[in-house]
Parts: sequence; structure tokens; C-alpha cells
Amino acid sequence: MRELLGGKGANLAEMSRLGMPVPAGFTITTECCAEYYQLGGGYSAELKAEVAEALAATEKLMGKHFGDTEDPLLVSCRSGARSSMPGMMDTILNIGLCSATLPGMIKKTGNPRFVYDAYRRLIMMYSDVVMEKAEGIEPEDGQGIRQQLDRMMQELKDAKGYKSDTDITAEELKDLCDKFKAKVKEVLGVEFPDTAEAQLWGSIGGVFKSWNGKRAIAYRRIEKIPDDWGTAVNVQSMVFGNMGNTSATGVAFSRNPASGDNKFYGEWLINAQGEDVVAGIRTPNPLNEATKTDHNKHLESLEKAMPQVYAELDAIRLKLENHFHDMQDIEFTIQEGKLWMLQCRIGKRTGIAALQMAMDMLEEGMIDERTAIMRVSPAQLDEILHPVLDPASEKKAAVVAKGLPASPGGAVGTIVFTSEAAMAAAAAGKKVILIREETSPEDIEGMRASSGILTTRGGMTSHAALVARGWGKCCIVGCEAMKINFAAKSVSFAGSDKVYKEGEWFSLNGSKGCVYATKIDTMDASENPLFIKFMSIVDKYRRLGIRTNADTPEDADRALKFGAEGIGLFRIEHMFYGRNSETPLTKLRKMILSSTEEERRSALAELLPFIKASVKSTLKVMDSKPVVFRLLDPPLHEFVPKTEDKKQEIATELGVSVVEVEKRGDNLHEINPMMGHRGVRLHVTYPLIAETQYRAIFEATCELKREGFNPMPEIMIPVTISARELSFQKAICDRVLAEVEAHYGMQVEYHFGTMIEIPRAALTADRMARTAEFFSFGTNDLTQMTLGFSRDDVGTFMGDYLGNKILDADPFQTIDVKGVGKLVEYGIQNGRSKRADLKCGVCGEHGGDPDSVRFFNKIGVDYVSCSPFRVPIARLAAAQAAIEQDK
Ligand code: ADP
Ligand code: MG
Ligand code: MG
Repeated sequence: MRELLGGKGANLAEMSRLGMPVPAGFTITTECCAEYYQLGGGYSAELKAEVAEALAATEKLMGKHFGDTEDPLLVSCRSGARSSMPGMMDTILNIGLCSATLPGMIKKTGNPRFVYDAYRRLIMMYSDVVMEKAEGIEPEDGQGIRQQLDRMMQELKDAKGYKSDTDITAEELKDLCDKFKAKVKEVLGVEFPDTAEAQLWGSIGGVFKSWNGKRAIAYRRIEKIPDDWGTAVNVQSMVFGNMGNTSATGVAFSRNPASGDNKFYGEWLINAQGEDVVAGIRTPNPLNEATKTDHNKHLESLEKAMPQVYAELDAIRLKLENHFHDMQDIEFTIQEGKLWMLQCRIGKRTGIAALQMAMDMLEEGMIDERTAIMRVSPAQLDEILHPVLDPASEKKAAVVAKGLPASPGGAVGTIVFTSEAAMAAAAAGKKVILIREETSPEDIEGMRASSGILTTRGGMTSHAALVARGWGKCCIVGCEAMKINFAAKSVSFAGSDKVYKEGEWFSLNGSKGCVYATKIDTMDASENPLFIKFMSIVDKYRRLGIRTNADTPEDADRALKFGAEGIGLFRIEHMFYGRNSETPLTKLRKMILSSTEEERRSALAELLPFIKASVKSTLKVMDSKPVVFRLLDPPLHEFVPKTEDKKQEIATELGVSVVEVEKRGDNLHEINPMMGHRGVRLHVTYPLIAETQYRAIFEATCELKREGFNPMPEIMIPVTISARELSFQKAICDRVLAEVEAHYGMQVEYHFGTMIEIPRAALTADRMARTAEFFSFGTNDLTQMTLGFSRDDVGTFMGDYLGNKILDADPFQTIDVKGVGKLVEYGIQNGRSKRADLKCGVCGEHGGDPDSVRFFNKIGVDYVSCSPFRVPIARLAAAQAAIEQDK
């Protein structure tokens, strides 16, 4: 039904069927919209006849005739697509008022003020929607007909000293209508239509055309709504909220859409029509006593003003919820004390409200567990997991600039301009916001230390954005209005002379991309017991395992708290970056710049205890849960010292000259290191490096076992292309294992596997699976290799690929099902043809992306691995995928 009638039409019919007071009317289907466009903006004779018939039926029900001179029926023409597009298309009210019907209407109602108020609204809406927008006229800013008429009305109010629209008298409104029509003629060059019939068909076409209005098209892009759905048109008898002080109009939610509270929540205005409430012309009144706010507590509630109408509305609210089993967004009008229902739909809500409502409705027995799980979207869960700016406090602050909302949540802190300053401030227990042109890997520690990150450059997949999202840290990138003065440690924004110095308070809203130069309160919801309970239900329905990518005991611990069942990717090289990396990095450099086997062996011996300590501390936290250790992956040149003092340090350690160190470093230089001497290739050239890592892992395992722990190590070989690379490594690994076992006098269980991140590895999966007991699909590199896109440079053209619909989504965010996905699917099947119990995981950004998780669930992946903060999101996405699959 929704497909044909649109959401609004279907629900109006449903409310009417449930016996609720809905003004009579009919719906012109979405098919007619398609036909309208096919006919190049025309109507078939069939449609004309059917509309006439339906209108006659409506007239009969209402006891009035459209266009009648004595007692005219007025109608509205309302847009309504299959899925709700709030405010994106247009609606016209009071259709049928013209010189022939005005006198009869005045006589019948005895209320000329009301009639001219309705007429001036018709002129405003019709000229805007039908005569301007639908005609494709694009006036300059502020010069739209609607705005011009608004200004005329404002001038009248100013001249008379009126505060509210309702102060304008009947005579003045009558005069204003004449002036409006003259203005319309002057600006648009066309006479305002003066027959009911012309207005009706003009409006129907206007609504059809609003489907292809600018706003509607932009909204469809974002919400991924197909262009060919079209809109329905609802023609409905008018009821009037602007007939005086016993009339009103309002909007309401069956529960609070911001908090989820099970309290009827809404706003209404006396003597008003249509969108007056939303348009913010007057401060609307609260619906009831229980939900009054500071903002509106001085205003009378509907509950007090019209207790009977309120009681009826409240009963309808409950009836609707029980019927639709979900929170409803309601529009109503009261005409001279009588309630009319004009719309209901499933209400939009914040993340925290979605969670609250799902759990409440589950408790109330309104929905089952599966439905409750489907009620919270992964994006909403994401929202809940980040501290957010307190909306009330945010409302009071002024936005100084906007950027791209790269990582959601809110952040508040004093501003700093360097990573060092961020770290120093964090060490002193201060919250800071790090401001940079853009971030680079050197800023990692500073980013880590900051509450939020703000950059001038970069897009949604820039370094800062990726890193921040991984950590669940609020981040805004591409804030181009921002001018940084690093020398003065200050920042200013385009269009203002105001300069902000280091140490001043800023707040960021990473979900909206808003920057504030002030301190705003924050809220945190992750420890909400409701969240914990919800997640326990989620886990009942999930089949996919969820691991995390973590290389430190702190990250491992955080991931465990978020429900991770193991580590899917521990990168050995991580210990050479960031905090406490000084000494191991020096040892690594010494090893890298060794020129003889002897030098190398001794350097590796010095390195071993560091690797062992790092491996051990994480294995310990992850007791009884699997941890995948990936061998050293980056090309060695990445670690070559670049500063003079570091070069000197290594020269001293090796007992050679600085020039010699430089020469050896230059030898490691590669043209294209991404495809260079890295991953397993290093360990083929230098088996000793591999051996050291195996030894560290096995020794750490033995020591932990001795201490009474149950470590579960898994060893993963990266960047492989051939089964022989694996057998070559497995032989070394098993030899080391035997040595370590003999030394400790105990047996160690472990699994040996490989990363599948190069197409050839996926294509030869059956051979790889002879040696590998598990695969972990490294979908980041697999995407780079399969599409031939460099993840670091893709920002220069990705926008064009998405804009021109060459790609549906950024393949680095959502798995490219048709290409990369096929390789993964084939790899799994082909691998399992050789080894039936081959365990298959996915590591890489895609492991935390809900759409990708849905795909992985379908093709038999055993687990996904994502950053600690994405773990709950992956758990939810996996449960939702399983529930959808079972349907
Ligand atoms: P939107 O899709 O933007 O919400 P609507 O079609 O719901 O647009 O119309 C906006 C408002 O106009 C409604 O909320 C209602 O207050 C008013 N309205 C629409 N049709 C009628 C009608 N037949 N009688 C009285 N008011 C109406
Ligand atoms: Mg509406
Ligand atoms: Mg890789």
C-alpha cells in the first residue's frame, strides 16, 4: 500500500479505518506521478475522471461543494512519498478560495478575519510552490516570492506595532491579499489563478513537480531513495486551526524523541494553521504539564486549556502505538473545539531515545527481542557510545564554523596547535582540542591525548578522520573557514576578526561538524545499564564472532569491555611507534642497519625481550581468548632514522660512521614501498627476523602458562602470494617451537595462518589452506590491490566517482561486494574445499562497517575484527544481519 499511496496516504487511510477523526479526502497514487512525468507534465483523461469522481465522494461526505459560492469546500494538496522525506516536498492549503467563493465562505463562517487569513496563506503557498518552484524559477537569495510576501506582512506588522500574526485585523488582511496578488503578478508575470478548479490542478502538478525539487533530490541522494519512486498527492478536505481561540494546530510524538521517555510530548499553537508550529513564528505551547520546559513553562498546556480534546488525543496516541508498535509522530488540528488527525508516521529519534524506546517496548510486551534489536541502527549505537554535547547547552552557543563531521560525538577542551602541547596538557590532566592544518602519523600521540581534533584540510577518509573514528574520538576535518597562525598560536575564522589563542575553550559537535568557541556541557551514555542489557540480547541472535584490532593491553582491555571475543589483528610493529617506543625502536633500527649476519643476530637478541614483553602483556589481558599476531609488516625503510641525533645514536651502537648509517639507510629506499620489500618478503630474505618473533611469542606463551594463564596465540603471515611462502615460514616456526618447548618443558598450542590481502592469495586459496589453519582477509589492502586505488591518494577523485555514480560507496568504507567481495567469497569456499574447518576472519575497516558485516555474515565468515570502539556496532550489525537472513 505504501508503494502506491505513499506513507502519508497509507497512514491517513489506516487512521480512518481505525475510526479516528480524519478529514475526508483521497489519494492520487505514485503511479500517477510517473505518468505525469511520462506525459511531459500532463494528466490523462482517466485521471481527470477519477479525480472528479473521488472529489464528488468527498463533497458528499462533507456536505459541501468544491468551488461552491454559498458554502465552499476547501482542500489541501499534500505530497507523500513511500518513505518519509520530512519538509523536502510541498503541500498547499486552503485550495478553492477565489473571488467567487470568498463571499460565501465569509457569510457562512461569519468570520472574515479567518477567511482572509486562509486566503493570504493560499496566495503565499501557491505562488511559492506552484508558480515559482514548480516552474523552475530560481530567484536570488532573499528574492523568492514567499520571502517577498513574508516581508510585506512583516512591514505591516511593524508599521502597526503588532507582535503576532494574529493581531492583524480582517480589513488589513483583506487589503494585504490584494497587495499580495499584485506582487505575484509583478514578480512572476502571471495572474494568481482565480478559480477553484485551476488552483486544484495547479496544486496537483506542483506537488508532483516538488518530487524533482532541489531539496528533494539532495535528500534522496543522502538517504539513498530511488529517483523513480515518485510522490503521491493527498487531496483532503480542509479543517481549520485558525478560526479563533477554540481552534489550534499541533505536532506531537507518542514518546519523547530526544530522550525516549514514555511521555506524550508535543507542541501546539492556538489560532494557527499548518506549519506555524514548526516554522517558529510564535513560541509554541507545551502539550501537557509533565513535559514543560524552561523555554515554554509560562505557556498554557493543551492538557489545561482543552482537557477533553487532550484526553481524546492521548487515547489516540495509545491506540496508534498499539497498532503500529512503534513511536508515532503525529500532526493534528483542532477546529472550534473538535479534534482532527492529519498525519501519523514512525517518528525519527536520537540514538539514546531509540535504545530507551526499544527496551521499554520490549518490557511492555509491545515488541519481541528481534524487533527490539532492529529498532536501534548501528549509527544510533555509534552515537550512544560517544560522549555528546548536551543539546540544551549546545542550543545556547553560537557556531563559529562548520566542517565535515568526520567522527561523531562531542568534545570540549582548550585549544592547542601541536601534538607536544596536546600531550603536555593531557599529562597535566587537561582536556584539549588539537587544531592542525591536517594530521600525519607523527601526530598520533597528540591526537590520542586530545578530546577532539579539528583540521582545516582533509576529507571523510583523511588520516585524522580514520584514526579518530577508530578510537571513537570526536573529529571535524575540512573546516576551511579556519585560519591558523602557528607562530602566534592562534586561530581565527573567515568573516570575523576575532582571534582565539591557545588555551581558550572550544567545543566540537562531530556528528554535525559544528565548531563552537566556548565550553559546552557533555553527556556520556556508554555505561548506561540499558545499553548493557540491550547488548546482551543482541548477542543471543548473532552468529558472527567479533574480535578487535588491538596492539596494547589498554586497547585490549577496552575492547573486552565492549564485548570483543578475541584479537583479530595485533601488529607487531606497533611497539615501534608512539609512547615507550624509544628503546625498542633503537634496537630495531640497529637490526635494520646491520650489514652482517652477526650484527643482525646480536641486534635481534637485544630486541627479543621487548617483543616478548609486548606480546605477553596483551596475551595476559586476553586470557583464554585467541590473539592473532601478525609478523612485522611495513617496509624497513620506514624505520630508518631521519634526524641527525638518531643517526648518530645508531652509528655509535653499531660502531660505524654516520655516513655509513646514511648509506645503509639509502640502500633500503624503495620507489613503491607499498608493493615493496615488506610482509612475508622480509621474512624470506631475513629468516632470522621471523625466528625472533616466533620465539618471542612462544616464550611469552610458555611463561604465561607457567603463571597459570591460558594464552591462545595465533600467528599470521602478511602480504603472502604463494603457498610456498607459508610452508617456508611454517618450517621455521615449528623448529623454533620445538626449541622453546624443549627449553620450557611444556607443549604449546597455536594456530598458523595467513592474511589474504593480495588477489593471488585469494585465487590460490586451496593451496594456501594446505598450510594455513586460518585466513584473515585484510580487506584494506585487498581493496587497494583489487581496485588499484591507493588509499592515501583516493581523496583526489573519490568524490567524482561517487558523484557520478561510478561507485555506489567508498570501497574503503563499505566492501565492494561485486569485486573484492567476490574474491573473499571465493577465497573462503576454495580454501574450505581443502580444509573444511578453515577459520575465516576479516580485519580492516570493513569489519566495523554494518553494510559490510551484513555481507560477511552471508558468505560464511567466522568473525570480523574491528577497532575497540566499533565492537558494539559490529555486534549489533551481526545480530541484525542474522535476523534479516532468517526472515
Ligand atoms: P509535510 O509532509 O511537510 O509534513 P503536510 O502535508 O503534512 O506536509 O502538511 C503540513 C501541514 O499542513 C500539516 O501538518 C497540517 O497542519 C496542515 N494541513 C495539511 N492538510 C490539511 C488539511 N486538510 N486541513 C488542515 N490542515 C492541513
Ligand atoms: Mg506533515
Ligand atoms: Mg596489509
